[in-house]
Amino acid sequence: MLKAFRYRLCPTKTQEQELFNQLDLCRNLYNAALQERIGAYKKARVTRNYYDQANMLGEIKAALPEYKGVYSQVLQDVLKRVDKAHQAFFRRVKAGEKPGFPRYQGRGRYNSLTYPQSGFSLSDDGRTANFSKIGNIRIRLSRPLEGKVKTATILHDCGEWYVSYVCEIQAEPLPPTGNSVGLDVGTTWFAITSAGEFVENPRYFQRASQRLRVAQRAVSRKLNKQSKRRKKAIQRVAKIHRKISRQRLDFHHKVANKLIRENDLIAHEDLNVSGMKRGNLARSIHDVGWSQFFQILSTKAECAGRKVVRIDPRFTSQTCHRCGHACKENRVSQAKFKCVQCGHEQHADVNAARNILARAEPSVVHVAGCRKRSPSIQRLEPL
Ligand SMILES: [Zn+2]
Repeated sequence: MLKAFRYRLCPTKTQEQELFNQLDLCRNLYNAALQERIGAYKKARVTRNYYDQANMLGEIKAALPEYKGVYSQVLQDVLKRVDKAHQAFFRRVKAGEKPGFPRYQGRGRYNSLTYPQSGFSLSDDGRTANFSKIGNIRIRLSRPLEGKVKTATILHDCGEWYVSYVCEIQAEPLPPTGNSVGLDVGTTWFAITSAGEFVENPRYFQRASQRLRVAQRAVSRKLNKQSKRRKKAIQRVAKIHRKISRQRLDFHHKVANKLIRENDLIAHEDLNVSGMKRGNLARSIHDVGWSQFFQILSTKAECAGRKVVRIDPRFTSQTCHRCGHACKENRVSQAKFKCVQCGHEQHADVNAARNILARAEPSVVHVAGCRKRSPSIQRLEPL
């Protein structure tokens, strides 16, 4: 199991200068390696792989001695990134998609250095992190590191520096609870469970939109592109965005924790979220961020020995959970479900969540309709 631990770094002015300098060198190497691949292909129809390019690092260092100032595995990792971008590109071409070509990285876009194996350590008192060719940087070890550290990545985000250690940890299975749950996700509610729990959608983006508009207006008022005030205003916008994504991440972790703690099996729709994003619901769907949530849920499940099942969502919202009759007319309104065949009435999303659960565990016979009333709507805060 891999788990990432992220901490704040507090470099001195000189160290920060050095970090920016190394980021710039890496960015240039990235762009040059990308260009070399494209050039080789255009001129001679040859494809360069990672090893071809890594073998040239020695030559590069001889010609440009400033590259000797960057830890060699960090440079290798830059070439790995180019390789990864290329392979992802060709994979998508093969799959018949229309991918964008791997991009050159502009200043400010390339913002991290990865030590893939070695060259980094933590001091015994946990106050400083050492990085080869950079030095000892003060670190805020806000929680203890667990497991065996595999990689370290230094990253720059909105004027602040962080390090992310990826560690290999032991899975810790939770005791079985005997419960299973189906999830129906939506935009009105973040999720509705087969047990009739309604998880509210916090809409962080919408809540911050006023503040964001004010901050964006402040940027557009400052016409001088070089001015310090404009840069500061841009940073304020970026910080609001960062806050929104952190709030959302925290929320996703809390909801996932609760589901994992209470259930042995969690079933959800296998949503083609990226397909849905293209529609006009784009903004509210992005605000919900299901793909991130499902990702977190499956990682946590793996760690806790729980099972997550993705099911085909077709007709889950139109099918009667009690008798299995499926037709459009069953769905009376957005919220109401009433089966035209057997008269089963329920909140439409709870009915869908039960169908989702039933598809995930077909061997279990669900005693549908044993509850006379549909469960009352409860507003549940996660945790
Ligand atoms: Zn029915």
